[in-house]
Amino acid sequence: MMRREDSRGFDASAWTVTTAAGALRAHGCRVTRPRVAVLQALLEHGAPIDATALTVLAQRYEPTIHEATVYRTVNVLAEVGITTHVHAGHGPSLVGLRGGSDVVAVCRDCGAIEAVPTAAVDDLADRVRRSTGYVIELGHFALEGVCPDCSRDEAPS
Ligand SMILES: [Zn+2]
Ligand SMILES: [Zn+2]
Repeated sequence: MMRREDSRGFDASAWTVTTAAGALRAHGCRVTRPRVAVLQALLEHGAPIDATALTVLAQRYEPTIHEATVYRTVNVLAEVGITTHVHAGHGPSLVGLRGGSDVVAVCRDCGAIEAVPTAAVDDLADRVRRSTGYVIELGHFALEGVCPDCSRDEAPS
């Protein structure tokens, strides 16, 4: 796996079809309609997403795209460092843009996925590093917990 551009994140909010195509070229990646469609879908969604939902979004840009093509496309984009994956609970791993919202929380009850402000978890990572020397990478696994809706359901009435 190529490790170019690892430290350089993407400003997802500034992306358009043209910048998506430019990013593909900058990463030495041929510009194809499925690749642009998958990138556009990731930009539109703005948070890590599973491949099935990503396919539905990508079909708005490329109506004939199949899930198998999305999988292959995501693998190519990951190899050149444009996308990354996040493990969320026991479900399928999620696809995200490298440098996007890096940390997500997943609800163990309903599976809802939400971006977590990185400042909050940076502080945790910093404390762990200072007390144990471990440099923990929080972005690879989603933080597991209970979402506001489900915790409301659990509250004693
Ligand atoms: Zn929930
Ligand atoms: Zn992994």
